[in-house]
Amino acid sequence: MTATFDHWIQGRGTPAGTGRRFTTHSPHDGREATTIALGNAADVDLAVNAATAAASVWRRRKPIERGRLLLRLAASILEHSGELAELESAETGKRIGQAVGEIAGAAAYFEFYGGLVNAVHGETIDLGPDHHCFTRREPFGVVGIITPWNAPLNQAARAGAPALAAGNVVVIKPSEFTSATTVVLARLATEVGFPDGVLNVVTGEGAEAGSALVEHPGVRKIAFTGSVRAGQQIGRIAADRIIPLTLELGGKSANIVFPDADLERAATGSLAAFTLNCGQVCSAGTRLLVHRTIHDEFVQRLITASKALTVGDNLGPVTTAAQYDKVLEYFDIARTDGAHPVLGGSPLPDSERAGGWFVPPTIYTEVDNSMRIAREEVFGPVLSVIAFDDEDEAVRLANDSVYGLASGVWTTDISRALRVADALEAGQVYVNTWVAGAVETPFGGYKQSGYGREKGLEALHHYTQVKCVTVALY
Ligand code: NAD
Repeated sequence: MTATFDHWIQGRGTPAGTGRRFTTHSPHDGREATTIALGNAADVDLAVNAATAAASVWRRRKPIERGRLLLRLAASILEHSGELAELESAETGKRIGQAVGEIAGAAAYFEFYGGLVNAVHGETIDLGPDHHCFTRREPFGVVGIITPWNAPLNQAARAGAPALAAGNVVVIKPSEFTSATTVVLARLATEVGFPDGVLNVVTGEGAEAGSALVEHPGVRKIAFTGSVRAGQQIGRIAADRIIPLTLELGGKSANIVFPDADLERAATGSLAAFTLNCGQVCSAGTRLLVHRTIHDEFVQRLITASKALTVGDNLGPVTTAAQYDKVLEYFDIARTDGAHPVLGGSPLPDSERAGGWFVPPTIYTEVDNSMRIAREEVFGPVLSVIAFDDEDEAVRLANDSVYGLASGVWTTDISRALRVADALEAGQVYVNTWVAGAVETPFGGYKQSGYGREKGLEALHHYTQVKCVTVALY
């Protein structure tokens, strides 16, 4: 039977006011996976009002008490890891083992920020003997969180945990394709003792429930993870309302391999960089810049390593039908632009897909950085390889992108690694690794990859506003 999920508002499951529902389909075979409440502005209003009513209760809790609840929620997420992983896998198509890892990561956000509640410090400012001046970091109130479909629970936790730790209340609008685990998260929060209204979820589509959340006058900050297109639409509304945003958007991240690198490690890392989660990772390394002297050898290593991936086993389907069509469209675009597919580059035969949204790992050589396959985010396991002749050219090519989310440098020369890390226009630089970084490390983009930071102590500060109090002494 298809699992059904309603909104979670004021500590309980709440159907859409209109009774409308949305059905998701399994990326593995296209069969029905879940149905969710299809929310609208009235449902968002209900959730924001519930959050507003809970805001002062939550804010006035001692931070250490808030922290204890976050830690309890972390433990509960881990206890329910099996149920959550099944749901996440059913909707996103990722392997259970991978889903379990991401769910452990979601729990880690609540652990990390649960322990950091007392790190929200102000400072004292010396104005001389006639005054006492200090700053406080205060919560905004209601924070709206909008998440995409590639790592649903992990991203809900990434934004939700620091927002709650800092004393905000939240309304989360997950992707309509992958809402189940976020609704379960809210249910678990209620079960472990979060006051009603502190963590609410409204499910539904971006154009309706998502934009209603951004437009709602009770919402004081938005944390958005998703496409540049939606980020721009949200940014326009936020500009009119003068509310702050954290925008975590897309990428076309450059991964640079120098000839002195450990090529075996570099090949393993570079493969993971573009195939992890079937390439549906905002920080995927999808532009491989390889020194011309090792180009052919390195591409051969990558082809061999890619062939060891098994579609349907360790290379899952992409999550949505639209995403499947988009990847196929890029196969046509690359062909038209003259890129040369040395692996993949055309749809799998129906007999190998069994109705699922499976795509082959794909590597293009003879790519020019001006081609669309080198400039646009595909969000599938598709790699563009570009040869370079010297360090300056590698940096120039890497930075020649509207995006600036992640970047990689493979070299055994520490001076070169640090020099290039300094020159790269990206929020993350990985040296001799990829997909590094954890809950402790700040994460976010340069340029059109967004602004603001998630993760680390940095994120905690993004969910607070500074008040300065000056007292005259007499
Ligand atoms: P998307 O922008 O279509 O949707 C993301 C979320 O926004 C969904 O919940 C959607 O319903 C909602 N939404 C869409 N239009 C909206 C609007 N006008 N107003 C309010 N909400 C709206 O993105 P997607 O296809 O779900 O996800 C893929 C994109 O997300 C990729 O570009 C990827 O790079 C990006 N992403 C970024 C990060 C990061 O941390 N930087 C992480 C994961 C994914």
